[in-house]
Amino acid sequence: MAFRDVVGHTRPCQILQKEIKTGRVHHAYLFTGLEGIGKRRVALTMAKALNCPTQEEDACDCCPSCQRIDKGVHPDFILIVPEGEVIKIGQIRELQRAIAFKPYEARWRVVVVDGAERMTREAANAFLKTLEEPPPWTMIILLATDVEALPLTVLSRCQRVRFNPLRQEEVREVLAHHLSEEEIHLLAPLAGGSPGRVLRMDREEIAGAKRELMLCVSSSLERRLKLAQELAQREGRGRIFLEIFQGWLRDLIIYRETAEEGGLLNSDLTEEVKKFASRMETEEFLRDFWALLQIQRGIEAHSNLQLSLESALVGLGGA
Ligand SMILES: [Zn+2]
Repeated sequence: MAFRDVVGHTRPCQILQKEIKTGRVHHAYLFTGLEGIGKRRVALTMAKALNCPTQEEDACDCCPSCQRIDKGVHPDFILIVPEGEVIKIGQIRELQRAIAFKPYEARWRVVVVDGAERMTREAANAFLKTLEEPPPWTMIILLATDVEALPLTVLSRCQRVRFNPLRQEEVREVLAHHLSEEEIHLLAPLAGGSPGRVLRMDREEIAGAKRELMLCVSSSLERRLKLAQELAQREGRGRIFLEIFQGWLRDLIIYRETAEEGGLLNSDLTEEVKKFASRMETEEFLRDFWALLQIQRGIEAHSNLQLSLESALVGLGGA
């Protein structure tokens, strides 16, 4: 992929391309933004563009240099990812040995550290000097979703580039390369701006959770309580269910306010949204939406999943 093919991220790409063009690139970058949003892809594109012999500020995607970086077999393109949960000091030391000499053949050697916030404290400390002053013609790109987990000493040594969540239509555009129209309908509402996130989700689980939501919104209190108990037995499913529920409430609010189908996240549930939107006032749906957000935050902070599901399924009028 070249810069011209990147979906969304216009501002970061423009900045990086301008720096390549003017020869004013930084030696250490920190790309921040949601997981699955395309940071690694842009870092790869940066490596290709810096080294492509046929393009000035982009990648051609055809020359041997571009192709070998894409395939992960270029000797001057190095990708570091966590081994298990963390990036260990051994990985950093090994990297430092590997980049001690000048690049084999590339104009710019590029090192991408994905999941940089998962460097152990020792690994981060060992890395500081390299970040401060990388060897000549070496660029380091750290990728992180949780900037607050990075030590200030690391942050202060990198040029930060922020990647915003993609817009819904951009998410759909990316997903169109991987999924059928039907799957996009089902999954795009759950992306939250990150196509990579839905590509990792289990489609069966999502389709099942949607069926459960539709069952829930038209069942008795007793049935909903039973469903909450069943969902609590399968933690992952319970969480997916709540996310779908949140998108559903959002759609009800949007439809009540605009009476337009175009902006609905769950376009596969358009008829149901139309039917249910008239059941309550916008303020009531909004109140439920915020209550559900609180419940989800509670779960992140380790509240009891079954109790949380019960309050969502029983207490909220949208159900
Ligand atoms: Zn090329």
